Amino acid sequence: MILVHSFEQGKLYRRSDLHDQFGGNRQRGISPSAKEAVIFIFSGESGGQYGYSDGWNEDNTVFTFTGEGQVGDQTFTMGNKALRDHISSSKDVFLFRASSNGLCKFDDQLTLLGYELKPALDRNGDSRTVISFMFEPLSKVIQSANEIVEDVRDQSLEELKQLALDDTSSENTSVQERKVKVRRRSEAVKAYARKRADGICEACEQPEPFNAKSGSALDVHHLYRLSDGGPDHPEHVAAVCPNCHARIHRGSDGVEYNQALINKILNKEQL
Ligand SMILES: [Zn+2]
Ligand SMILES: [Zn+2]
Repeated sequence: MILVHSFEQGKLYRRSDLHDQFGGNRQRGISPSAKEAVIFIFSGESGGQYGYSDGWNEDNTVFTFTGEGQVGDQTFTMGNKALRDHISSSKDVFLFRASSNGLCKFDDQLTLLGYELKPALDRNGDSRTVISFMFEPLSKVIQSANEIVEDVRDQSLEELKQLALDDTSSENTSVQERKVKVRRRSEAVKAYARKRADGICEACEQPEPFNAKSGSALDVHHLYRLSDGGPDHPEHVAAVCPNCHARIHRGSDGVEYNQALINKILNKEQL
């Protein structure tokens, strides 16, 4: 199930190749993979979203995406459900922008900030409700995460766990509040894993190999994701030394090594 793979920003991919590798529906705008913990969004292929345009806001910090379903109220089923639940289900969301000739350009990995239900007209001119998802680009999350690292560093393991499990997708908060919550949770998850490790690599169980400028030499690895970064569940991350981290992502026994680590973390968390 674990696949070490990352897409390159701005690079063109053939959509059929993506589905050959990952499975998933070949036509829909939201395509959860049948094989891996990943959901693809193909934006701009369906030709008009009946009153709402998908895309980035002015400063490229929020991507708005209308859910699927062209007639009647949109509901949280299929792709819409997968997007709403992508954080709790530990699925990575990858945004591709439609190009021509079956090609699409990889844009960014996205993290859900929340959603709104909006009135709209369907293609028959009947009024209905659509789901408007708001996402934050992962590259921005990583860039700005440093701002709140100080916030979470001095918390206890239990406090960090609470922060890490914070529900950020409620409907009644502003986009700005959600962004702060998502970031705080993302940092809390990382700080939690490092505190749980307590200076010992959670994979090879050796002390961290050097003294880091920033407090910990251990990397935070996502056990069930294609790439590291973004918010996740405390039980889905491990703090590992750079050597073990490289082995998981690039070693010929990386998948097995990751699976052994998953078992260790499950044991730790069950104590
Ligand atoms: Zn190690
Ligand atoms: Zn990793």
